[in-house]
This record gives sequence, C-alpha cells and structure tokens, in this order.
Amino acid sequence: MESIYSLSLKDLEEYLSSHEEKAFHAKQLYRWIYDKRIDDFAMMSDISKHLLEKLQQDFTIDRLIIKEKQVSKDGTQKYLFELSDGCLIESVLMIFDYGFSVCVSSQVGCNMGCRFCASGLLKKQRNLTPGEIVLQVLMIQKELDQKDLRLGNIVVMGTGEPFDNYDNVMKAMNIINDPYGLKIGARHISISTCGLVPGIERFSKENLQYNLAISLHAPNNELRSSLMPVNNAYPLEELFQALKNYSKDNNRRLTFEYLLLKGINDEKEHVLQLKQLLKGMNAYINLIPYNTVKEKDYESSGEERALRFYDMLKKENVAVTLRTKKGDDIDAACGQLRANKLK
Ligand code: SAH
Repeated sequence: MESIYSLSLKDLEEYLSSHEEKAFHAKQLYRWIYDKRIDDFAMMSDISKHLLEKLQQDFTIDRLIIKEKQVSKDGTQKYLFELSDGCLIESVLMIFDYGFSVCVSSQVGCNMGCRFCASGLLKKQRNLTPGEIVLQVLMIQKELDQKDLRLGNIVVMGTGEPFDNYDNVMKAMNIINDPYGLKIGARHISISTCGLVPGIERFSKENLQYNLAISLHAPNNELRSSLMPVNNAYPLEELFQALKNYSKDNNRRLTFEYLLLKGINDEKEHVLQLKQLLKGMNAYINLIPYNTVKEKDYESSGEERALRFYDMLKKENVAVTLRTKKGDDIDAACGQLRANKLK
C-alpha cells in the first residue's frame, strides 16, 4: 500500500476528485499531516468518517522506526531508520550557526561506486519512495518540536544518488517545500549529484529554485575517473557543458563539493586546474574534510593542508569555502552507521 507521505498536494487533490470528494480536503489533510504532525487518520476531526475510511483503505500513514541515534559532541545527530520492509537508512541532523540542517538519503545503498565513500560499500537495493524521503525530515522535525525548534535546511547528500531516483526525490522536495507541507523554502534545499548528466539536463529544464551541488573532487579526467567511476560515463567536458547550460537557463549559483584527500587532490597543480575549469562560471568550491572510512585507504588532508589548499585557491581568485568537520566522533561519514550496523 502506498504511503500518504508520498502524495504531493496535487496528487492528493487528484485522488480526492477521482473519488467523488472535494479537492479542498487535500489542504485539510496536509494540515493534519504536516502542521499538526498527526500520524493517525482517526484524529483528523474535521474530515468525514466516510473519507477517512477510504483513506485508511488506500494509504498507510506509518512513520519510520528509529533504530539507533548517535549524538556527537558538536551536536550532530545521526539517525538510523528502519523502513517498512526492514531496510535501514541514515539521516543526519547538523547544527550550523545559521540553523538546523538535515541530510537525507535518497536510496537504500548506492551504485555509483565512488572509491572513497562508505555508502557504496553496500550496493543499491532500491530507490526510496517520496514518502520515505519526506519522513526522514518529518521524523527529525518531530523530535525538534519537543524543543520548539524548526528545521531550516535540507540537503540531499546522504546515501544514494538523487538523480538516479529523480522522480521520487523531486516529488519529496515538492512536499517538503510546499507552503501547506513542510514549508522549507526552495533556496534552503540543496541537491547533490555525482554528475549524472541526464539528471542535470532534466533539472535545468524544470527551472526549480533548489540549489544544485556537484561532487567534483578532482579537476582532471584521469584523477576523477580513478576516484569516481561515473566520470567514465560522463567525463568533465560533458559534465561542464551540461552545467554551463544549466547556468544559462537558471540564474543560480552552483556549488562544487571538493573532498580533500591527502596527497591525491590537494596539491598546487589541482588549484590551477580548478581555476581553469571554473573560469567564468557562477560557482564556488566547497572544500570538505574527508571523514576516514575504515575500509578505504584514503587519508584526510588534515587542517594544515586544507588551509593551505584554501589559501592557494583564494590567491588565484577562485570562490571557495572550507566546510567545518561535523560529527567525526560518530559514524558520520556517509553510509558508515548503516554499513557498521549491517556487518
Ligand atoms: N550521490 C550524491 C549525494 C550523496 S554523497 C553525490 O555524490 O553528490 C554526498 C557528498 O558526500 C558527496 O560529495 C560525496 O562525495 C561526499 N562523501 C562521500 N564519502 C565521504 C566521506 N567519507 N567524507 C566526506 N564526504 C564524503
């Protein structure tokens, strides 16, 4: 049975219309589900018994199960959720000076096979449904409700490749963004892709206001292909052509994520290649400290080399930020908690 959390407001209106019900009940239902955050049809007191029975027959309203929760010294919280079929996924709540941010997963496992990443240790089992993506946010917001706090940002940077599950991710973001849904502004939602060009092309045409982030991690094809197999399918020339087209169609600033791997992509030559690559683009580089993964041989650049790389980029007038490390005392690297649990 489909989860009610998988339905956009429009889906719900269409469902109602096709069941001889008034479409305006959709907004009432959304209010119960996303404002009052009720997970029991029986409590929706302004909806007729007749309609509630129908809904109960056609949809589930179950939440996810919190299997485990790790809290880091810096406040980062990692959730391990169990889905209705027993699959496990992870979400992370991060606290920044600008507010609370949730990192959601888009798939169970991942097939992109990035060499440095823990998520790919476990191959993709299936796509997440829109409802399972929405529920990661709703569940964490429910916890924040107890302290009267509100989530401000969503990043689709957990396990999975969002553009390999395009429709479900976009529907979930629509529900999260909806003024009757979770009301998180489009500009506070970021979607990160390893560089699936067809997804980028599709996203460009939709003219959505979500931020687009690209996991770049290397400034030349040889190095990038050795780190990210996706580069064999969509090498830098193709990727950047798609991104330049995106920039033409959308007046939005692109983010390039760049993991700092000691001795691999953090040398002066990489600075110069990055400068060349990004020339003339409305974009900036977000340098990310690498969370070491036991099963992988890569080493983090460490603070000193990270700052050196940052300074070199600055000197070359490349727009750059250096992300602070979050949750490195818990299993915070993508897919780590889940991988350790399933072992
Ligand atoms: N598949 C998408 C989104 C999920 S990964 C993508 O590739 O963008 C989110 C980000 O975390 C990516 O930039 C990814 O390369 C990075 N990442 C993976 N493993 C990491 C690790 N151990 N430490 C820090 N970042 C990591």
